Order: sequence, then structure tokens, then C-alpha cells
Amino acid sequence: MDKKITIALAGNPNSGKTTIFNNLTGMHQHVGNYPGVTVEKIEGALNYKEYEINIVDLPGTYSLSAYTMDEIITRNFLLEKKIDVVIDIIDTSNLERNLYLATQLMELGIPLILAFNMYDLAKKGNFSIDKNKLSELLGMPIVFTIAPKQKGMNELLDNVIDLIEGKIKFNKITVSYGREIDEEIEKINNILRKDASLIEKYPIQWLAIKLLEGDKKVFEEIKSIAQFHELFAQVQASIQHLQGIFGDAPEAVIADRRYGFISGACSEALKKTYEVRHTISDKIDKVLVNKILGLPILFTLMWLVFKATFAISAPFMAVIEKAQGYLSNLVSGFFSQGSVIQSLVTDGIIGGVGSVLVFVPIIFMLFLAMALLEDSGYMARAAFIMDNFMHKIGLHGRSFIPMLLGFSCNVPAIIATRTIEDKRDRFVTILVNPFMSCGARLPIYTLLIGAFFSQKMAGNVLFSIYILGIAVAAIMAKIFRKHVFKGEATAFVMELPPYRIPTIKGLLTHTWERGSVYLKKAGTVIVLASIVVWFLSSFPRAPMQNQTVAENLEKSYIAKAGKAVAPVFKPLGFGDWKIATGLIGGVFAKEIVVSTLGTLYSTEENSRGLRSALRDAKRTDGNKLFTPLVAYSMMIFVLLYIPCMATIAIIKRETKSWFWAGFAAVYTTAVAWLVSFIIYQGGRLLGLG
Ligand code: GDP
Ligand code: MG
Repeated sequence: MDKKITIALAGNPNSGKTTIFNNLTGMHQHVGNYPGVTVEKIEGALNYKEYEINIVDLPGTYSLSAYTMDEIITRNFLLEKKIDVVIDIIDTSNLERNLYLATQLMELGIPLILAFNMYDLAKKGNFSIDKNKLSELLGMPIVFTIAPKQKGMNELLDNVIDLIEGKIKFNKITVSYGREIDEEIEKINNILRKDASLIEKYPIQWLAIKLLEGDKKVFEEIKSIAQFHELFAQVQASIQHLQGIFGDAPEAVIADRRYGFISGACSEALKKTYEVRHTISDKIDKVLVNKILGLPILFTLMWLVFKATFAISAPFMAVIEKAQGYLSNLVSGFFSQGSVIQSLVTDGIIGGVGSVLVFVPIIFMLFLAMALLEDSGYMARAAFIMDNFMHKIGLHGRSFIPMLLGFSCNVPAIIATRTIEDKRDRFVTILVNPFMSCGARLPIYTLLIGAFFSQKMAGNVLFSIYILGIAVAAIMAKIFRKHVFKGEATAFVMELPPYRIPTIKGLLTHTWERGSVYLKKAGTVIVLASIVVWFLSSFPRAPMQNQTVAENLEKSYIAKAGKAVAPVFKPLGFGDWKIATGLIGGVFAKEIVVSTLGTLYSTEENSRGLRSALRDAKRTDGNKLFTPLVAYSMMIFVLLYIPCMATIAIIKRETKSWFWAGFAAVYTTAVAWLVSFIIYQGGRLLGLG
């Protein structure tokens, strides 16, 4: 008894489908070398091994949208779900363009084989294909064929049968359309899922994408479902939202992403990409993604970003600082001099929250710069350039995006690791993510750099901190990969979408999305923490009124706590219990380091800025508390030590393990201590202070 299966041949017009169909079936369908010869689908059959294979020759199409009759016939046929395997016939001499259809076929979820036909013509081109690599990246078998010479026909059939029998796996790889589009897809999916008959009939993800593309045919087909109005409203809203952000119809952006996927895959698996796709983008990439120049350009750009954010935000910060001092003086006039309530409002709340608010401009500037790089398409290149390096440390390019997100906040960054399929890759990425310096740590750097380094050095110092964080992350990832989460990193496609000019709305949305988190925190957590710190630093109140504020502080609860842990930090150069206290506060949220220092030092001298207070601060032995070396050591400690509570909580949630959450807290702190120790003691040996 033969087992019956049905396969379909799909492909662009003139890619050799009919020739292959005739080869396989022994039939004599008309072969033409111009598009559009095969108008209707033609069927035939053959016996191979113990299988009776039905073959359908589908009309040639460039895509699965609903613009032509051919596309609609092909699409409806494939959606009927009667096909066991699709063979996509690719004109290899025109590879990238032909793969476009494959990216759409992938989404239908039918096992797919790529026949790289016209291999004879392709071989004459000046490039070579790493077949295994490409096949791994795309998640499906690839067979080289030369249809008129019958080459590769049996191999095609063998692969069909291997797929049917499960001897090779069809890895369902999807194009990543980027966070924005993915979010809208998810919203649409949520409505689609309410209708059981739809789930039955269509791949939901595919349907949602088609709706975003504004596919009229799909709209027609689902008009009858109960949620149609809700769905229609959502789709309209999504399309408008995306249109605003990208300045282009979602349809075009989605197409760009597909080409980006192909371009990325080909850049990795082809010795030379010969095909001109998006002319301008390719020209830019010749320089920006250049093997030799790519990395230096990336680093120069990053360095420029830090330089510029510092320079541009400085005047804004000065204004806020002034306003804060003014407000503090103004408000303190409302209360009776020296009263508890006056101290609470001016030292506690205005001092604490204000010291955090001062840094809002630089945080927004940095996020704006990141949004600019992201929306223009450069970040995708950065991921691509770093892919090689990521492989060296045992991770792959997909880990790069969560790492990058870590620069704004580690919480969403760790959530973003969900796109990493391999559990080991994912855990390593989660564990090293906190070394990516989040935005909340920026105020501490800015404060210390502003106080102890020259304006000219500021950008460089900041840049070095971020680089050090990346280096530590790389080293730790390598160690984890080698000793804890062993195994090869899996391959995947890095998308290279074309460059586009960012829209103002897109930039503002992205900057606000990330930056507003700080404003919210300043209004909530930081207010609370400031009050707590103020309380702990003001009580117990001294019975004798002739004590100075400073003397009072020395006897407060917080001083006791700070003094208890201060010895641990001595070897790192932090010779003051107030620093220790600030660092403890930072365990809850990194901004609290600054707000605590703000409260503790503003008690001494109300009108001066925190920066000069730090500059003047003395140790008990009378020497200056801070030198540039101490400041640097402290910044490194802040960079590396235990991430904030929210991050620990999210690590617990994402790894589903208290062990790894606890581990993340402990090992980062150990690393921080060690690195700061080396920097401080090493610096002293070198005579740097
Ligand atoms: P279809 O439109 O996809 O059905 O493509 P056809 O099967 O009609 O082929 C189009 C033209 O390409 C014909 O002239 C074929 O002889 C030619 N052709 C198909 N496969 C190959 C191949 O592997 N190498 C070369 N050199 N020509 C091919
Ligand atoms: Mg044909």
C-alpha cells in the first residue's frame, strides 16, 4: 500500500517550476521562458519509494498579497491545508528577490523546501552560497537544482519524504517585524483568537499581518465574524499608529522587514552579495557594515552620542539645578526656621527628588539619540556588526537587542529575552544584562563626573564606563557559556531593513516611552525613599538644641547603619558612611543613590549644590573624601553591583527561579567589589590618588 501525500510547487514566474514539474511527473506541460504561462494550477502524480505523490504546479507569483489572480489562486490553495510540503522554486541567479516569496510561505506554517534552481547560471555569478548555513538560518532544507539537466530531482523528493517522516525538522522561523509592529500584531491577534472558526481556518499570525497590510481580500473573508467591528476598529487604529511612527504605510514597512530578513541571511551565508536591492541602503552599508570599518564606526558613533548628550543637556541641567535651589529657599520661608517640617520638605523631599530630577535632561537626550539610531535602521546594523563578536562570547546576535535595551532599563530588556528560543542562550543573556548600564545609573555618573572631571573629559569618562560594563558582560557571558550553560550557540537571521529617515513623532514617542519612566519614579518611589532617608537621618533628634545639624546627623539611625557597612567599602576608596548609605539605597532603585546623597549632604549646607558639597566633603582624617580615582571607583561599583529590586524581581519571574534571581544579586555585587578594588588599588599604585 502506497502512502499518499500532496506537494505543491510555488515560485516566482520563470523560475523553472514547470520544468521541474515535468521532470518529476514525466508530463509535458508547456514550458515557457516568459512569465504567466502557467495560469491555472496543474496537477500530476508520481510514485517514489513507498509514496504516491501528488504534485500541484501553482501559478508563478512574487508574493502572497492579493493583487493578482495568480496570487489569489496560489494563496487560497495553500490555505486549504491539503498540502503536506511546499517546494519553493528559487531562481538562484536572482536570489534575494526570489526569497521574498519564501518569507511569506514560511508564515503559512506548511513545511517548506527551497529548490535553488538555475544553479548553473548562479555558479557563473561572482558569489558562493554556504548552503548549510543558509539552510540553518532559514530553518528549512535547501537543494541545488538544474531543472533542464534533471539535476537535484531525487534529492528534492528525498527531502520531501524526510520532512514527512520527521527525519528532518521544519523549524518555523518567523521574520521579526520589530517591537512596534509586533505589538500591533498581538493586539489584532487577541481579537482574532476569540473566534474559534478563524483559528481553525487560518494561521492567526499570518492573518494579522495581512490585515495590517490592508489586504482587502482577507477583510472580505472575515466580514462575517462576530467581532468584525471591534477588529476593524483595531486594525484602523494600528495602521494609523504605525503610519505615524514610520511615516510610511505598515505594508511598506513590513515588506522592508522581510527584505531585511533576507538581506541579513544572505549577508551571513553568501560570500558576496551581488544583487542590488535597496540601492541607497546598500551603498550606505558598504561603508557602515564594512568588515574593517564597521566596528570602529560603531564605536565612534557611540562615543559621539555620549559626548553630545553631555554637551547638549548641560545647560538644561544647570537651569533645573538653579530652579531647585530657588524653590528650596522659597518654600523654606513658609515654615518656621529649624522646624522638623521645614527640614522634611526642603532637605528631604526637594533635596532628594530634586537631585534626581536634575538628570532628566541627560536621560532624555540619551534616549533621543538611541531612538534616532534605532529608527533610522542603524541599530539593526549595530546588531549585525556585533553578531560575530557575540558568537565569540558564546551568544548570538539576537542577544544583542536585549543588551541594547538594557541601556535604558534592564526590566524590559530582560523581558525582551523571550525572543531567544534556546534556554541557555536566554539565561546567559539575562544574567549579564544588568551590566548594561541602565538609565537610572546615569545620574550618579553625571553627578560624579561633573564634580570631579573636566568638561572636556566628561564624555570620554562616561563612554569608558559603558564600555567597561560591556566588557564585563562579555567576559561573564563567556564564563557562563563555558562552565554553566554549555553548548553551541544557535544560528539565526539578523535583519537588515533599509535605512529610513525617522519621523519626529516616532522619535518623540520612543524617547517619551523610555524617559517617562524616570519622571514617574521621581514622583513616586523617589519621594517615598527621600522621606524614609530624611527620617532615618534626622532621628533620633538630639536632646540638646545646641548641636549642629552635622553632629545630629552623625548620631542618626542612618549613620549607625552606614557606619556598620562602611568598612566593607573602605578597600574600594569610599571613606565615608554616607557613600555606603547611598549604595545601600541603590539596592532598591539606582536613583536613590543620588537622592540619598542629596539628602545627606544637603543637610550640611542648604544652598550649595550637591556637586560642590561632594567636592568639599572631608574624611575623618581631614583629607578630601573624593578624588577622581575614588569617584571613578564608585561609578564602576554602581555600574556593576546588584541591579535594582525591580530587575531582581523580573529575573525571578523570567527564569522562574529564586535561585537565579539570588545568584544574579550576589555574583554581580561580588564582581563589582572585585573590579572596583582592582581599579582603586591599582590606581593608587600608579599614583593616581
Ligand atoms: P516557470 O515559469 O516557473 O514554470 O518556469 P519554466 O519551467 O517555464 O522555465 C522558464 C525557463 O527557464 C525555461 O526556458 C527553462 O528551460 C529555463 N530553466 C528552468 N530551470 C533552469 C535551470 O536550472 N537552468 C537554466 N539554465 N535554465 C532553466
Ligand atoms: Mg510554468
